[in-house]
Amino acid sequence: AIREETLGFQTEVKQLLHLMIHSLYSNREIFLRELISNAADACDKLRYAALDNDALYEGDSELRIEIEHDQEAGTVTVRDNGIGMSRDEVISNLGTIARSGTAEFLKQLSGEQQKDAKLIGQFGVGFYSGFIVADDITVRTRKAGTPAGEGVEWHSKGEGEFTVADVERAAHGTEIVLHLKQDAREFADDFRLQSLVRKYSDHIEVPVRMPRVETDKDDDGKPVEGSEKTVWETVNEATALWVRPKSEVSDDEYKAFYKHVAHDFSDPLTWSHNKVEGKLEYVSLLYVPGRAPFDLYERDGARGVKLYVQRVFIMDDAEQFLPLYLRFVKGVLDTRDLSLNVSRELLQQDPKVEKIKSALTKRALDMLGKLAKDKEAYQGFWNTFGSVLKEGPAEDFANRDKIAGLLRFSTTHTDSATQDQCLADYVERMKEGQDKVYYIVADSFNAAKSSPHLEIFRKKGIEVLLLHDRIDEWLMSHLTEFDGKHFVDVAKGDLDLGEVEDEAEKQAQQETAKAKEALVKRVKEALGELAQEVRVTHRLTDSPACVVLPEHEMGYQMRRIMEAAGQ
Ligand code: ADP
Ligand code: MG
Repeated sequence: AIREETLGFQTEVKQLLHLMIHSLYSNREIFLRELISNAADACDKLRYAALDNDALYEGDSELRIEIEHDQEAGTVTVRDNGIGMSRDEVISNLGTIARSGTAEFLKQLSGEQQKDAKLIGQFGVGFYSGFIVADDITVRTRKAGTPAGEGVEWHSKGEGEFTVADVERAAHGTEIVLHLKQDAREFADDFRLQSLVRKYSDHIEVPVRMPRVETDKDDDGKPVEGSEKTVWETVNEATALWVRPKSEVSDDEYKAFYKHVAHDFSDPLTWSHNKVEGKLEYVSLLYVPGRAPFDLYERDGARGVKLYVQRVFIMDDAEQFLPLYLRFVKGVLDTRDLSLNVSRELLQQDPKVEKIKSALTKRALDMLGKLAKDKEAYQGFWNTFGSVLKEGPAEDFANRDKIAGLLRFSTTHTDSATQDQCLADYVERMKEGQDKVYYIVADSFNAAKSSPHLEIFRKKGIEVLLLHDRIDEWLMSHLTEFDGKHFVDVAKGDLDLGEVEDEAEKQAQQETAKAKEALVKRVKEALGELAQEVRVTHRLTDSPACVVLPEHEMGYQMRRIMEAAGQ
Protein backbone atom coordinates (compact mmCIF):
# COMPACT_ATOMS: atom_id res chain seq x y z
CA ALA A 1 0.00 0.00 0.00
CA ILE A 2 1.10 3.54 -0.72
CA ARG A 3 1.24 6.49 1.63
CA GLU A 4 0.40 4.34 4.59
CA GLU A 5 0.23 6.24 7.85
CA THR A 6 -0.68 5.23 11.38
CA LEU A 7 -2.79 7.68 13.31
CA GLY A 8 -4.13 7.72 16.86
CA PHE A 9 -7.85 7.91 17.55
CA GLN A 10 -8.98 11.14 19.13
CA THR A 11 -9.10 10.67 22.93
CA GLU A 12 -12.90 10.81 22.95
CA VAL A 13 -13.06 7.96 20.44
CA LYS A 14 -10.79 5.81 22.59
CA GLN A 15 -12.98 6.41 25.60
CA LEU A 16 -16.13 5.69 23.65
CA LEU A 17 -14.70 2.51 22.14
CA HIS A 18 -13.61 1.21 25.48
CA LEU A 19 -16.90 1.88 27.21
CA MET A 20 -19.01 0.76 24.28
CA ILE A 21 -17.39 -2.62 24.01
CA HIS A 22 -17.99 -3.26 27.68
CA SER A 23 -21.44 -1.77 28.02
CA LEU A 24 -23.24 -2.84 24.90
CA TYR A 25 -22.41 -6.50 24.91
CA SER A 26 -26.01 -7.59 25.33
CA ASN A 27 -27.11 -5.24 22.55
CA ARG A 28 -24.35 -6.03 20.17
CA GLU A 29 -26.49 -6.99 17.18
CA ILE A 30 -27.16 -3.27 16.64
CA PHE A 31 -23.80 -2.98 14.87
CA LEU A 32 -25.50 -4.19 11.70
CA ARG A 33 -28.22 -1.58 11.93
CA GLU A 34 -25.61 1.15 12.32
CA LEU A 35 -23.56 0.02 9.34
CA ILE A 36 -26.62 -0.38 7.12
CA SER A 37 -27.88 2.99 8.25
CA ASN A 38 -24.58 4.59 7.22
CA ALA A 39 -24.62 2.76 3.90
CA ALA A 40 -28.16 3.95 3.22
CA ASP A 41 -27.17 7.53 4.09
CA ALA A 42 -24.24 7.23 1.68
CA CYS A 43 -26.60 6.10 -1.12
CA ASP A 44 -28.96 9.01 -0.36
CA LYS A 45 -26.06 11.42 -0.56
CA LEU A 46 -24.90 10.08 -3.89
CA ARG A 47 -28.39 10.28 -5.35
CA TYR A 48 -28.55 13.89 -4.27
CA ALA A 49 -25.11 14.81 -5.58
CA ALA A 50 -25.88 13.08 -8.89
CA LEU A 51 -28.88 15.33 -9.49
CA ASP A 52 -26.40 17.92 -10.73
CA ASN A 53 -23.86 15.54 -12.10
CA ASP A 54 -24.98 12.22 -13.47
CA ALA A 55 -21.39 11.16 -14.06
CA LEU A 56 -20.97 10.57 -10.32
CA TYR A 57 -22.82 7.28 -10.73
CA GLU A 58 -19.93 6.10 -12.89
CA GLY A 59 -22.42 4.10 -14.95
CA ASP A 60 -23.86 2.33 -11.92
CA SER A 61 -27.00 4.15 -10.81
CA GLU A 62 -28.70 1.18 -9.20
CA LEU A 63 -28.00 2.05 -5.58
CA ARG A 64 -27.76 -0.91 -3.26
CA ILE A 65 -26.31 -2.37 -0.09
CA GLU A 66 -24.77 -5.82 -0.06
CA ILE A 67 -24.11 -8.02 2.93
CA GLU A 68 -21.85 -11.03 2.68
CA HIS A 69 -20.31 -13.35 5.20
CA ASP A 70 -17.67 -16.03 5.36
CA GLN A 71 -18.30 -18.53 8.08
CA GLU A 72 -14.84 -20.10 7.92
CA ALA A 73 -12.95 -16.82 8.01
CA GLY A 74 -15.41 -15.39 10.55
CA THR A 75 -16.11 -12.22 8.59
CA VAL A 76 -19.12 -10.09 7.73
CA THR A 77 -18.92 -7.52 4.94
CA VAL A 78 -21.26 -4.56 4.44
CA ARG A 79 -20.87 -2.86 1.07
CA ASP A 80 -22.58 0.07 -0.61
CA ASN A 81 -22.24 1.89 -3.91
CA GLY A 82 -22.99 5.25 -2.34
CA ILE A 83 -20.98 8.44 -2.14
CA GLY A 84 -17.83 6.96 -0.57
CA MET A 85 -15.16 8.92 1.28
CA SER A 86 -11.94 10.72 0.42
CA ARG A 87 -8.81 10.15 2.47
CA ASP A 88 -9.40 13.27 4.56
CA GLU A 89 -13.00 12.30 5.16
CA VAL A 90 -11.96 8.82 6.26
CA ILE A 91 -9.52 10.27 8.75
CA SER A 92 -11.99 12.68 10.31
CA ASN A 93 -15.13 10.48 10.10
CA LEU A 94 -13.52 7.29 11.33
CA GLY A 95 -11.00 8.78 13.73
CA THR A 96 -12.80 11.49 15.63
CA ILE A 97 -16.17 12.39 17.08
CA ALA A 98 -17.14 15.81 15.86
CA ARG A 99 -20.41 16.22 17.70
CA SER A 100 -21.40 18.93 20.09
CA GLY A 101 -22.13 17.65 23.57
CA THR A 102 -19.42 14.98 23.38
CA ALA A 103 -17.45 16.21 26.37
CA GLU A 104 -20.55 16.45 28.52
CA PHE A 105 -21.59 12.98 27.43
CA LEU A 106 -18.26 11.44 28.34
CA LYS A 107 -18.30 13.14 31.72
CA GLN A 108 -21.57 11.45 32.57
CA LEU A 109 -20.31 7.96 31.91
CA SER A 110 -19.79 6.16 35.15
CA GLY A 111 -18.36 2.73 34.35
CA GLU A 112 -21.63 1.25 35.56
CA GLN A 113 -22.65 -1.03 32.76
CA GLN A 114 -26.40 -0.56 32.51
CA LYS A 115 -26.36 3.14 33.06
CA ASP A 116 -23.61 3.64 30.52
CA ALA A 117 -25.33 1.46 27.95
CA LYS A 118 -28.30 3.81 28.13
CA LEU A 119 -26.18 6.92 27.83
CA ILE A 120 -24.16 5.55 24.95
CA GLY A 121 -27.35 4.60 23.17
CA GLN A 122 -28.65 8.09 23.70
CA PHE A 123 -25.48 9.59 22.33
CA GLY A 124 -25.52 7.37 19.26
CA VAL A 125 -23.02 4.65 18.57
CA GLY A 126 -22.55 4.78 14.82
CA PHE A 127 -19.67 3.28 12.96
CA TYR A 128 -17.60 2.49 16.05
CA SER A 129 -20.21 -0.06 17.16
CA GLY A 130 -18.54 -2.47 14.73
CA PHE A 131 -15.93 -3.01 17.41
CA ILE A 132 -18.49 -4.52 19.76
CA VAL A 133 -18.41 -7.65 17.60
CA ALA A 134 -15.13 -7.32 15.67
CA ASP A 135 -11.53 -7.26 16.80
CA ASP A 136 -10.37 -6.10 13.40
CA ILE A 137 -12.11 -3.86 10.86
CA THR A 138 -11.03 -2.95 7.34
CA VAL A 139 -12.78 -0.20 5.40
CA ARG A 140 -12.21 0.24 1.68
CA THR A 141 -13.76 3.23 0.06
CA ARG A 142 -13.59 5.63 -2.85
CA LYS A 143 -15.41 8.89 -3.29
CA ALA A 144 -17.75 8.80 -6.28
CA GLY A 145 -16.36 10.70 -9.23
CA THR A 146 -12.69 10.42 -8.27
CA PRO A 147 -10.13 8.30 -10.19
CA ALA A 148 -9.70 4.62 -9.31
CA GLY A 149 -6.30 5.41 -7.84
CA GLU A 150 -7.83 7.51 -5.08
CA GLY A 151 -9.24 4.60 -3.12
CA VAL A 152 -8.50 4.52 0.60
CA GLU A 153 -8.02 1.63 2.95
CA TRP A 154 -8.60 2.15 6.67
CA HIS A 155 -7.70 -0.53 9.13
CA SER A 156 -7.88 -0.84 12.91
CA LYS A 157 -8.08 -3.26 15.76
CA GLY A 158 -10.04 -0.72 17.75
CA GLU A 159 -7.32 -0.32 20.29
CA GLY A 160 -6.09 3.22 20.01
CA GLU A 161 -4.84 3.66 16.50
CA PHE A 162 -5.71 3.08 12.88
CA THR A 163 -3.88 3.10 9.57
CA VAL A 164 -4.89 4.70 6.29
CA ALA A 165 -3.35 3.94 2.94
CA ASP A 166 -4.04 4.77 -0.70
CA VAL A 167 -5.30 1.83 -2.74
CA GLU A 168 -6.66 1.16 -6.21
CA ARG A 169 -10.37 0.71 -6.06
CA ALA A 170 -12.48 0.17 -9.17
CA ALA A 171 -15.85 0.67 -7.53
CA HIS A 172 -16.94 3.85 -5.79
CA GLY A 173 -18.67 3.57 -2.41
CA THR A 174 -17.64 1.82 0.75
CA GLU A 175 -16.97 -1.72 1.87
CA ILE A 176 -16.58 -2.59 5.54
CA VAL A 177 -15.11 -5.94 6.50
CA LEU A 178 -15.58 -7.01 10.10
CA HIS A 179 -13.40 -9.75 11.45
CA LEU A 180 -15.62 -11.18 14.17
CA LYS A 181 -14.40 -11.84 17.68
CA GLN A 182 -14.39 -15.47 18.67
CA ASP A 183 -17.56 -15.10 20.72
CA ALA A 184 -19.39 -13.22 17.97
CA ARG A 185 -18.96 -15.76 15.21
CA GLU A 186 -22.69 -16.45 15.32
CA PHE A 187 -23.18 -13.38 13.13
CA ALA A 188 -21.42 -15.00 10.19
CA ASP A 189 -24.61 -16.81 9.40
CA ASP A 190 -27.13 -16.43 6.61
CA PHE A 191 -30.21 -16.82 8.67
CA ARG A 192 -29.01 -14.59 11.49
CA LEU A 193 -28.02 -11.79 9.14
CA GLN A 194 -31.26 -11.99 7.20
CA SER A 195 -33.41 -11.76 10.27
CA LEU A 196 -31.40 -8.79 11.57
CA VAL A 197 -31.83 -6.96 8.27
CA ARG A 198 -35.58 -7.56 8.42
CA LYS A 199 -35.73 -6.52 12.03
CA TYR A 200 -33.78 -3.29 11.74
CA SER A 201 -33.59 -2.21 8.14
CA ASP A 202 -36.83 -3.20 6.45
CA HIS A 203 -37.89 0.42 6.03
CA ILE A 204 -34.72 1.51 4.26
CA GLU A 205 -35.52 2.44 0.71
CA VAL A 206 -32.25 1.16 -0.70
CA PRO A 207 -32.38 -2.60 -1.32
CA VAL A 208 -30.25 -4.62 1.06
CA ARG A 209 -29.12 -7.72 -0.78
CA MET A 210 -27.53 -10.99 0.23
CA PRO A 211 -25.99 -13.57 -2.10
CA ARG A 212 -27.28 -17.06 -2.64
CA VAL A 213 -25.38 -19.65 -4.61
CA GLU A 214 -27.47 -21.53 -7.15
CA THR A 215 -26.41 -24.71 -8.89
CA ASP A 216 -27.93 -26.31 -11.98
CA LYS A 217 -29.22 -29.82 -11.44
CA ASP A 218 -28.84 -32.62 -13.96
CA ASP A 219 -31.66 -35.00 -14.95
CA ASP A 220 -31.10 -37.08 -11.82
CA GLY A 221 -31.36 -34.00 -9.61
CA LYS A 222 -27.62 -33.98 -8.91
CA PRO A 223 -25.77 -30.61 -8.86
CA VAL A 224 -23.79 -29.96 -12.03
CA GLU A 225 -20.19 -29.29 -11.20
CA GLY A 226 -18.96 -25.83 -12.11
CA SER A 227 -22.48 -24.51 -12.61
CA GLU A 228 -22.53 -22.49 -9.39
CA LYS A 229 -23.60 -18.92 -9.80
CA THR A 230 -24.37 -16.21 -7.29
CA VAL A 231 -27.78 -14.58 -7.31
CA TRP A 232 -28.43 -11.53 -5.19
CA GLU A 233 -31.65 -11.50 -3.25
CA THR A 234 -33.19 -8.40 -1.77
CA VAL A 235 -33.84 -9.10 1.89
CA ASN A 236 -35.60 -5.95 3.09
CA GLU A 237 -38.88 -4.42 2.03
CA ALA A 238 -36.99 -1.57 0.33
CA THR A 239 -39.74 1.02 0.07
CA ALA A 240 -39.60 4.30 1.93
CA LEU A 241 -41.71 3.78 5.01
CA TRP A 242 -43.38 7.19 4.98
CA VAL A 243 -44.76 6.58 1.48
CA ARG A 244 -46.71 3.54 2.62
CA PRO A 245 -50.29 3.97 3.89
CA LYS A 246 -50.49 4.29 7.68
CA SER A 247 -52.68 1.23 7.97
CA GLU A 248 -49.93 -0.92 6.48
CA VAL A 249 -47.15 0.15 8.78
CA SER A 250 -46.80 -1.61 12.12
CA ASP A 251 -45.72 0.06 15.34
CA ASP A 252 -42.51 -1.92 15.27
CA GLU A 253 -41.73 -0.61 11.81
CA TYR A 254 -42.37 2.97 12.91
CA LYS A 255 -40.07 2.43 15.87
CA ALA A 256 -37.31 0.89 13.78
CA PHE A 257 -37.52 3.73 11.30
CA TYR A 258 -37.28 6.27 14.10
CA LYS A 259 -33.99 4.77 15.21
CA HIS A 260 -32.59 5.20 11.73
CA VAL A 261 -33.82 8.77 11.33
CA ALA A 262 -33.01 10.04 14.80
CA HIS A 263 -29.79 8.07 15.28
CA ASP A 264 -31.34 7.06 18.56
CA PHE A 265 -31.17 3.78 20.33
CA SER A 266 -34.39 3.71 22.26
CA ASP A 267 -38.04 3.85 21.24
CA PRO A 268 -39.85 7.09 20.47
CA LEU A 269 -42.66 8.22 22.78
CA THR A 270 -45.11 8.83 19.97
CA TRP A 271 -45.35 9.77 16.30
CA SER A 272 -47.63 11.39 13.76
CA HIS A 273 -47.72 10.35 10.12
CA ASN A 274 -49.60 12.57 7.69
CA LYS A 275 -50.13 12.88 4.01
CA VAL A 276 -51.29 16.26 2.79
CA GLU A 277 -52.67 17.00 -0.65
CA GLY A 278 -54.05 20.23 -2.02
CA LYS A 279 -52.37 23.61 -1.92
CA LEU A 280 -49.40 22.06 -0.23
CA GLU A 281 -48.29 18.55 -1.02
CA TYR A 282 -46.20 16.72 1.45
CA VAL A 283 -45.85 13.70 3.67
CA SER A 284 -44.57 14.22 7.17
CA LEU A 285 -43.64 11.70 9.80
CA LEU A 286 -42.80 13.37 13.10
CA TYR A 287 -41.59 11.69 16.27
CA VAL A 288 -41.25 12.67 19.90
CA PRO A 289 -38.13 10.97 21.25
CA GLY A 290 -38.23 9.10 24.52
CA ARG A 291 -35.28 11.01 25.84
CA ALA A 292 -33.23 14.10 25.31
CA PRO A 293 -30.24 14.12 23.00
CA PHE A 294 -27.00 15.42 24.41
CA ASP A 295 -27.04 18.56 22.36
CA LEU A 296 -30.56 19.72 23.27
CA TYR A 297 -29.23 22.91 24.82
CA GLU A 298 -26.25 23.39 22.53
CA ARG A 299 -26.57 26.37 20.27
CA ASP A 300 -25.33 24.37 17.28
CA GLY A 301 -27.00 21.10 18.27
CA ALA A 302 -28.52 19.03 15.48
CA ARG A 303 -32.20 19.75 14.99
CA GLY A 304 -34.85 19.67 12.31
CA VAL A 305 -36.21 17.05 9.96
CA LYS A 306 -34.71 14.90 7.27
CA LEU A 307 -35.81 16.59 4.07
CA TYR A 308 -36.80 14.75 0.90
CA VAL A 309 -38.15 16.24 -2.28
CA GLN A 310 -40.20 13.75 -4.27
CA ARG A 311 -38.54 10.88 -2.43
CA VAL A 312 -35.03 12.12 -3.12
CA PHE A 313 -33.02 12.80 0.01
CA ILE A 314 -31.97 16.45 0.12
CA MET A 315 -30.51 17.12 3.56
CA ASP A 316 -30.38 16.12 7.19
CA ASP A 317 -31.36 18.51 9.96
CA ALA A 318 -33.45 20.88 7.86
CA GLU A 319 -34.21 23.26 10.70
CA GLN A 320 -36.44 25.67 8.78
CA PHE A 321 -39.53 23.50 9.15
CA LEU A 322 -39.99 23.56 12.90
CA PRO A 323 -39.65 26.32 15.50
CA LEU A 324 -36.78 26.26 17.94
CA TYR A 325 -39.02 25.33 20.88
CA LEU A 326 -39.91 22.08 19.07
CA ARG A 327 -36.29 21.22 18.35
CA PHE A 328 -36.64 17.86 20.05
CA VAL A 329 -39.05 16.66 17.34
CA LYS A 330 -37.40 14.32 14.83
CA GLY A 331 -38.65 12.95 11.57
CA VAL A 332 -39.03 13.17 7.83
CA LEU A 333 -40.59 15.67 5.50
CA ASP A 334 -41.08 14.67 1.88
CA THR A 335 -42.58 17.35 -0.31
CA ARG A 336 -43.42 18.13 -3.91
CA ASP A 337 -43.54 21.84 -3.22
CA LEU A 338 -39.82 22.48 -3.33
CA SER A 339 -37.43 22.01 -6.17
CA LEU A 340 -34.83 19.30 -6.17
CA ASN A 341 -32.01 21.77 -6.08
CA VAL A 342 -33.02 23.61 -2.92
CA SER A 343 -30.20 24.56 -0.62
CA ARG A 344 -30.23 25.81 2.95
CA GLU A 345 -29.97 29.36 1.64
CA LEU A 346 -32.89 28.92 -0.75
CA LEU A 347 -34.99 27.41 2.02
CA GLN A 348 -34.68 30.63 3.95
CA GLN A 349 -36.25 32.59 1.12
CA ASP A 350 -39.00 30.25 -0.06
CA PRO A 351 -42.45 31.34 1.18
CA LYS A 352 -43.68 27.75 0.92
CA VAL A 353 -41.25 26.81 3.64
CA GLU A 354 -43.01 29.15 6.07
CA LYS A 355 -46.35 27.55 5.17
CA ILE A 356 -45.09 24.03 5.68
CA LYS A 357 -43.47 25.12 8.92
CA SER A 358 -46.70 26.43 10.31
CA ALA A 359 -48.50 23.24 9.27
CA LEU A 360 -45.85 21.00 10.84
CA THR A 361 -45.89 23.09 14.01
CA LYS A 362 -49.62 22.50 14.34
CA ARG A 363 -49.14 18.78 13.72
CA ALA A 364 -46.44 18.60 16.35
CA LEU A 365 -48.55 20.47 18.92
CA ASP A 366 -51.55 18.27 18.15
CA MET A 367 -49.36 15.22 18.56
CA LEU A 368 -48.37 16.47 22.02
CA GLY A 369 -52.00 17.21 22.81
CA LYS A 370 -52.86 13.62 21.99
CA LEU A 371 -49.96 12.34 24.04
CA ALA A 372 -51.20 14.40 26.99
CA LYS A 373 -54.26 12.15 27.23
CA ASP A 374 -51.92 9.50 28.55
CA LYS A 375 -50.89 11.14 31.83
CA GLU A 376 -47.94 8.91 32.57
CA ALA A 377 -46.44 9.11 29.08
CA TYR A 378 -46.95 12.85 28.98
CA GLN A 379 -45.24 13.28 32.33
CA GLY A 380 -42.24 11.47 30.90
CA PHE A 381 -42.27 13.87 27.98
CA TRP A 382 -42.68 16.88 30.22
CA ASN A 383 -39.84 15.93 32.56
CA THR A 384 -37.55 15.59 29.54
CA PHE A 385 -38.62 18.41 27.24
CA GLY A 386 -40.89 20.66 29.30
CA SER A 387 -38.38 23.43 29.74
CA VAL A 388 -37.83 23.54 25.98
CA LEU A 389 -41.56 23.79 25.32
CA LYS A 390 -41.65 26.70 27.78
CA GLU A 391 -39.72 28.72 25.20
CA GLY A 392 -42.81 28.44 23.01
CA PRO A 393 -45.03 31.34 24.03
CA ALA A 394 -42.18 33.80 23.45
CA GLU A 395 -41.27 32.38 20.06
CA ASP A 396 -44.64 31.47 18.64
CA PHE A 397 -47.27 34.09 19.31
CA ALA A 398 -49.86 32.46 17.06
CA ASN A 399 -49.86 29.19 18.97
CA ARG A 400 -49.63 30.64 22.48
CA ASP A 401 -52.96 29.23 23.61
CA LYS A 402 -52.22 25.77 22.33
CA ILE A 403 -48.82 25.78 24.00
CA ALA A 404 -50.26 27.11 27.27
CA GLY A 405 -52.59 24.12 27.36
CA LEU A 406 -49.58 21.80 27.08
CA LEU A 407 -47.65 23.36 29.98
CA ARG A 408 -47.40 21.63 33.34
CA PHE A 409 -46.73 23.29 36.68
CA SER A 410 -46.04 22.72 40.32
CA THR A 411 -48.84 24.33 42.31
CA THR A 412 -50.02 24.73 45.87
CA HIS A 413 -52.72 22.19 45.00
CA THR A 414 -50.24 19.34 45.35
CA ASP A 415 -47.34 21.24 46.94
CA SER A 416 -45.04 18.85 45.10
CA ALA A 417 -41.96 19.80 43.08
CA THR A 418 -43.19 17.63 40.22
CA GLN A 419 -44.60 19.79 37.45
CA ASP A 420 -47.74 17.87 36.68
CA GLN A 421 -50.70 20.26 36.86
CA CYS A 422 -52.23 21.82 33.78
CA LEU A 423 -53.95 25.18 33.49
CA ALA A 424 -57.27 23.66 32.49
CA ASP A 425 -57.38 21.84 35.83
CA TYR A 426 -56.37 25.00 37.67
CA VAL A 427 -59.26 26.86 36.09
CA GLU A 428 -61.56 24.02 37.00
CA ARG A 429 -60.51 24.37 40.65
CA MET A 430 -60.79 28.15 40.82
CA LYS A 431 -62.71 29.60 43.77
CA GLU A 432 -66.09 31.17 43.34
CA GLY A 433 -65.45 34.75 42.21
CA GLN A 434 -61.78 34.14 41.29
CA ASP A 435 -61.00 35.45 37.83
CA LYS A 436 -57.20 35.34 37.75
CA VAL A 437 -54.51 32.69 37.62
CA TYR A 438 -52.05 33.38 40.42
CA TYR A 439 -48.38 32.45 40.33
CA ILE A 440 -45.13 33.05 42.11
CA VAL A 441 -41.61 32.81 40.68
CA ALA A 442 -38.63 31.87 42.84
CA ASP A 443 -35.17 30.38 42.53
CA SER A 444 -36.12 26.99 43.83
CA PHE A 445 -39.21 24.99 44.51
CA ASN A 446 -38.75 25.34 48.26
CA ALA A 447 -38.31 29.08 48.05
CA ALA A 448 -41.52 29.32 46.04
CA LYS A 449 -43.45 26.99 48.29
CA SER A 450 -42.51 28.72 51.53
CA SER A 451 -42.82 32.28 50.30
CA PRO A 452 -44.69 34.57 52.72
CA HIS A 453 -46.56 35.92 49.71
CA LEU A 454 -48.58 32.73 49.69
CA GLU A 455 -49.95 33.06 53.20
CA ILE A 456 -53.18 34.79 52.29
CA PHE A 457 -53.73 32.38 49.39
CA ARG A 458 -53.26 29.36 51.54
CA LYS A 459 -55.60 30.77 54.13
CA LYS A 460 -58.29 31.36 51.54
CA GLY A 461 -57.61 28.11 49.73
CA ILE A 462 -56.69 29.81 46.45
CA GLU A 463 -54.30 27.82 44.28
CA VAL A 464 -51.01 29.41 43.19
CA LEU A 465 -48.61 28.15 40.53
CA LEU A 466 -45.16 27.59 42.02
CA LEU A 467 -42.67 28.48 39.30
CA HIS A 468 -39.03 27.70 39.85
CA ASP A 469 -37.37 26.89 36.51
CA ARG A 470 -34.78 29.29 35.22
CA ILE A 471 -36.96 30.09 32.25
CA ASP A 472 -40.21 30.61 34.14
CA GLU A 473 -40.13 34.36 34.49
CA TRP A 474 -39.35 34.67 30.80
CA LEU A 475 -42.27 32.34 30.11
CA MET A 476 -44.69 34.36 32.24
CA SER A 477 -43.66 37.61 30.62
CA HIS A 478 -45.07 36.16 27.38
CA LEU A 479 -48.14 34.45 28.73
CA THR A 480 -50.80 36.99 29.54
CA GLU A 481 -53.92 34.89 29.79
CA PHE A 482 -55.35 31.44 29.61
CA ASP A 483 -59.00 30.73 28.88
CA GLY A 484 -59.72 34.45 29.30
CA LYS A 485 -58.11 34.59 32.73
CA HIS A 486 -55.18 36.88 33.33
CA PHE A 487 -52.01 35.74 35.05
CA VAL A 488 -51.05 37.62 38.20
CA ASP A 489 -47.70 37.51 39.99
CA VAL A 490 -48.56 37.40 43.69
CA ALA A 491 -45.27 39.04 44.61
CA LYS A 492 -45.87 42.16 42.56
CA GLY A 493 -47.94 45.31 42.93
CA ASP A 494 -51.23 45.68 44.73
CA LEU A 495 -52.86 42.43 45.47
CA ASP A 496 -56.44 42.47 44.34
CA LEU A 497 -58.22 39.29 45.14
CA GLY A 498 -61.32 40.60 43.40
CA GLU A 499 -64.57 38.98 44.27
CA VAL A 500 -62.95 36.34 46.40
CA GLU A 501 -62.89 38.89 49.22
CA ASP A 502 -66.13 40.15 50.56
CA GLU A 503 -66.94 43.74 51.38
CA ALA A 504 -66.60 43.23 55.12
CA GLU A 505 -63.03 42.03 54.70
CA LYS A 506 -62.11 44.97 52.52
CA GLN A 507 -63.63 47.30 55.04
CA ALA A 508 -61.64 45.75 57.87
CA GLN A 509 -58.41 46.07 55.88
CA GLN A 510 -58.97 49.73 55.27
CA GLU A 511 -59.57 50.32 58.94
CA THR A 512 -56.39 48.54 59.92
CA ALA A 513 -54.43 50.59 57.40
CA LYS A 514 -55.76 53.78 58.96
CA ALA A 515 -54.99 52.64 62.47
CA LYS A 516 -51.38 51.82 61.57
CA GLU A 517 -50.52 55.03 59.75
CA ALA A 518 -48.08 56.13 62.42
CA LEU A 519 -46.21 52.81 62.31
CA VAL A 520 -45.95 52.97 58.52
CA LYS A 521 -44.49 56.45 58.77
CA ARG A 522 -41.83 55.31 61.23
CA VAL A 523 -40.82 52.33 59.10
CA LYS A 524 -40.65 54.56 56.02
CA GLU A 525 -38.28 56.93 57.80
CA ALA A 526 -36.14 54.12 59.06
CA LEU A 527 -35.75 52.56 55.60
CA GLY A 528 -35.23 55.85 53.81
CA GLU A 529 -34.15 55.33 50.21
CA LEU A 530 -34.11 51.56 50.52
CA ALA A 531 -37.84 51.29 49.91
CA GLN A 532 -40.01 53.04 47.36
CA GLU A 533 -43.05 52.65 49.50
CA VAL A 534 -44.22 51.12 52.75
CA ARG A 535 -47.78 49.84 53.07
CA VAL A 536 -50.05 47.91 55.34
CA THR A 537 -50.76 44.59 53.69
CA HIS A 538 -53.28 41.85 54.04
CA ARG A 539 -51.16 39.38 52.09
CA LEU A 540 -49.57 38.05 55.24
CA THR A 541 -51.15 36.00 57.93
CA ASP A 542 -48.10 34.66 59.81
CA SER A 543 -45.07 36.72 58.72
CA PRO A 544 -44.72 40.31 59.95
CA ALA A 545 -43.41 41.80 56.66
CA CYS A 546 -42.37 41.02 53.10
CA VAL A 547 -40.78 42.72 50.10
CA VAL A 548 -43.00 43.36 47.09
CA LEU A 549 -41.96 44.48 43.61
CA PRO A 550 -43.86 47.16 41.73
CA GLU A 551 -46.18 45.63 39.17
CA HIS A 552 -44.21 46.45 36.05
CA GLU A 553 -40.78 45.88 37.49
CA MET A 554 -38.49 43.18 36.19
CA GLY A 555 -38.55 40.15 38.49
CA TYR A 556 -35.65 38.75 40.47
CA GLN A 557 -34.85 36.01 37.98
CA MET A 558 -34.82 38.37 35.03
CA ARG A 559 -32.66 40.84 36.92
CA ARG A 560 -30.16 38.13 37.58
CA ILE A 561 -30.14 37.05 33.95
CA MET A 562 -29.64 40.66 32.84
CA GLU A 563 -26.88 41.15 35.39
CA ALA A 564 -25.14 38.00 34.21
CA ALA A 565 -25.37 39.33 30.67
CA GLY A 566 -23.62 42.50 31.84
CA GLN A 567 -26.62 44.84 31.62
P1 ADP B 1 -23.41 9.28 11.91
O1 ADP B 1 -23.96 8.28 10.95
O2 ADP B 1 -24.34 9.56 13.05
O3 ADP B 1 -22.93 10.54 11.24
P2 ADP B 1 -21.35 7.34 12.26
O4 ADP B 1 -20.36 7.07 13.32
O5 ADP B 1 -22.31 6.24 11.98
O6 ADP B 1 -22.12 8.65 12.63
O7 ADP B 1 -20.60 7.68 10.93
C1 ADP B 1 -19.66 8.73 10.93
C2 ADP B 1 -19.50 9.32 9.55
O8 ADP B 1 -18.71 8.44 8.73
C3 ADP B 1 -20.79 9.51 8.79
O9 ADP B 1 -21.40 10.75 9.10
C4 ADP B 1 -20.29 9.49 7.34
O10 ADP B 1 -19.81 10.77 6.98
C5 ADP B 1 -19.12 8.55 7.40
N1 ADP B 1 -19.50 7.20 6.95
C6 ADP B 1 -19.74 6.12 7.70
N2 ADP B 1 -20.08 5.06 6.94
C7 ADP B 1 -20.07 5.48 5.66
C8 ADP B 1 -20.34 4.88 4.38
N3 ADP B 1 -20.73 3.60 4.29
N4 ADP B 1 -20.20 5.64 3.28
C9 ADP B 1 -19.81 6.94 3.36
N5 ADP B 1 -19.57 7.56 4.52
C10 ADP B 1 -19.69 6.86 5.66
MG1 MG C 1 -24.41 6.38 11.45
